[in-house]
Amino acid sequence: MIIGIDDTDSREGMCTTYLGAILIEELTVYGSIRGYPILVRLNPTIPYKTRGNAAIAIQIDTKYPDKVIEYVISKIESLAEMQSEKTNPGVVFVHDREYNKSKSALKDFFYDTVHNVMAIENAKNLISKLGLIAKGYKKERGLIGALAATGAMLDSEWDSTYEYLTYRKKEKWGLSRVVDENSIYKSDLDFYPDTWDTVDWENYVIVCVPKSPDPVLYGIRGKDDHTVKSATEDIKSETVERSAVYKTNQGTDMHLINVSSIKEVTDMQSYIVQGTVKNHPYTIEGGHTIFTLGDNSGNTIDCAAYEPTKNFRYLVRKLKTGDNITVYGSVKNQTLNIEKFKINRLVPIYETRNPTCPICNKRMKSAGKNQGFKCRKCKTKAGSSVLVEIDREIETGLYEVPPSARRHLAKPLVRFMSSNYNIFPSR
Ligand SMILES: [Zn+2]
Repeated sequence: MIIGIDDTDSREGMCTTYLGAILIEELTVYGSIRGYPILVRLNPTIPYKTRGNAAIAIQIDTKYPDKVIEYVISKIESLAEMQSEKTNPGVVFVHDREYNKSKSALKDFFYDTVHNVMAIENAKNLISKLGLIAKGYKKERGLIGALAATGAMLDSEWDSTYEYLTYRKKEKWGLSRVVDENSIYKSDLDFYPDTWDTVDWENYVIVCVPKSPDPVLYGIRGKDDHTVKSATEDIKSETVERSAVYKTNQGTDMHLINVSSIKEVTDMQSYIVQGTVKNHPYTIEGGHTIFTLGDNSGNTIDCAAYEPTKNFRYLVRKLKTGDNITVYGSVKNQTLNIEKFKINRLVPIYETRNPTCPICNKRMKSAGKNQGFKCRKCKTKAGSSVLVEIDREIETGLYEVPPSARRHLAKPLVRFMSSNYNIFPSR
């Protein structure tokens, strides 16, 4: 049986992955958990998400499906943040006998939920069409993610990474986290690039420890299950109550839709789109850097590197009108929030300079208005200035935001190692 759960947390506390970590231990009374639980991140532009727009799925081999359903429901009812207005839990159960007939529809629903804005009715209609057991609470919005997570569990085709999550003892929730920072920096030194987003060296920030009042102590992200486990062995911290390894679509770019024209770009979706820089990037109040991208058909879209992307903005500011680039990111309010960009072609930029003396090899000086140039030392004369191609101070290749500004779904450049163009990972 597959169990999908979503939206049990709130800004004030809880985390659906914590509920999952409890269930994979406690459900062993009724059977055996198959493989790793799944943590899926859904459309990052959704405004009513509580925090990371995440849902989970667990698969269990059991002879007592009714007991499992009863137990899971009781756990949701006791642990979910029901009092929070924005928390609208949902749970979906897919019996073994329903796998084959449901697989393709649930898989499609999963991809749709990562790319599009889904209505609660979409989820409810599919649940009733497939005859699944499900339960929604309050506005029942969690049914969307819960159903999507079951689709992720049924489909093993998608690119995946792993996260090792540790949780705090209940009496510590809401208090500041005690984690030895040096041991975290050391873990990054020892395991990067097989783990990533543990720390942000350039901005000197610990990334793997959240600030929110939820039960998570820290989470280590990486390429496989044993690497993320090993990377936590030397991390020193307050007592870890429990931990869990999740298979996840984090760091995969699953949210991005490849489009051939800017005309296809709409709000609330995420894209990979190529075009030409139409104006020199400028910086507005608040420190956000913006430029316009245009394509051959005359369509344009504003692209932004927001203030939290820090040093990434300096790279964006090096772009010039005419550069051919590919941008990756989510669109809201007709503006694409840049997660990374690839420079395909840099336009040559020329500067007029005084000529160099052929004898002394020194830059010549103006000899007066309309008088040409003259060498100060040997007095050699020259008629006209020269055009010199200036160094663009940036190369073609792929650039990304720093770890501290990375979206859960965004694929870090360390995962592009085998590409045939330059990559410039931010660390
Ligand atoms: Zn000279």
